[in-house]
Amino acid sequence: MPTSAPTAAHIPLAARLDDLRTESAFVVLARAKELERQGRQILHVEIGEPDFPTAPHIVEAAVRALHDGETRYGPAGGLLDLRVAIANHLTSFGIAAEPDNIVVTPGSKPILFYAALALLEHGDEALIPDPAYPIYDSAVRFAGAHPITYRLDSSNDFSPDVDAIAASITARTRVLVLNTPQNPTGGVIDAARLAALAELAIANDLVVIVDEIYRPFNYDGAPVPSITTLPGMRERCILVDGFSKAYAMTGWRLGFGLFPAPLAPRFALLALNDHACVPAFVQRAGIAALTGTQEPLRAMIAEFAARRALVAERLAAIPGVRMRAPAGAFYAFPDVSAITNASGITAAQLADTLLQNFGVALLPGTAFGAAGEGHLRLSFSASRIDLDRALTIVARCFGTLPH
Ligand code: PLP
Repeated sequence: MPTSAPTAAHIPLAARLDDLRTESAFVVLARAKELERQGRQILHVEIGEPDFPTAPHIVEAAVRALHDGETRYGPAGGLLDLRVAIANHLTSFGIAAEPDNIVVTPGSKPILFYAALALLEHGDEALIPDPAYPIYDSAVRFAGAHPITYRLDSSNDFSPDVDAIAASITARTRVLVLNTPQNPTGGVIDAARLAALAELAIANDLVVIVDEIYRPFNYDGAPVPSITTLPGMRERCILVDGFSKAYAMTGWRLGFGLFPAPLAPRFALLALNDHACVPAFVQRAGIAALTGTQEPLRAMIAEFAARRALVAERLAAIPGVRMRAPAGAFYAFPDVSAITNASGITAAQLADTLLQNFGVALLPGTAFGAAGEGHLRLSFSASRIDLDRALTIVARCFGTLPH
């Protein structure tokens, strides 16, 4: 007798599960892979991960650690050697960082969740950007709090509007989330704007969660300024950072948070309860990444700078598309509203058409929030040859649509 798989339809789930959002990049990637399984050729510019391999000296450090027997539980907050390396790394960017104030996690994502769970009571409010990395919204909602969005738009170079943020602060506002350089817009928040945001945070006693995971990806020469370096800010900032992007280590799962002085042990306790520790061999790889040669990082940034120029130039040349080269990160976020408006379609429908009918996998701006309507996100995670192909197809697709 064939038996059917058991289903759990009768098991009631806690309502908080409904508050979790997905990351569309993974959903679109899965759909694109399914089309590939059916024999279709797909050009991938959807997922935000470098297409570079992890550098050999990083891989070797992990292998060596495994052979040396580093296969046991370790401290919840991370190996001291790694925390020292991270502290030195951050200090080289002018960020005052001490090993004791750092917690190492499997990717930087857990820091976002821990921060939301630790800082927000039911009904509190957290200010988050729109469009933005979708996990900010997810983490805030999961904590039982309300995400209050502030808009980023191209008229402002995707910089937060400080007056608009000030106007949305209420007695329940606890947290301001900043991301610079930004996913998905590529915007970088300049020093003057950060100073105004710092003033606002201090005046309203807000904790700032600042996600700087794209720090090395800036194309305008000057280093990305960090709000954590401003007077009075280190003690009210949680800095979110990690190895995924800079060192092409997305699948290794290695990130960290830098906390105000007394908080790190409280967050390490969250880590202890959640995953116990990050595997030591992964942490050894992280030490090699930070203390070894930075040549692979420099080479990757140089390649991404070339891709950025190519993508920005090609998109700007397509009728109906408004595009300025992004200042940072590795995403293009073109304004295609002339096309979506004239065609009476949404950015999601346009992205879907590009995938289903033209074989180009990219994301609608609305995957990052309502303010992303009329935009698409393309990642530079493909070779220049593939980006060139993808953009030729995008131009052909848009040529079939009114604008
Ligand atoms: N923050 C931003 C803005 C991101 O775009 C991402 C990944 O795409 C992350 C954090 C999380 O990266 P990870 O958990 O791999 O460190």
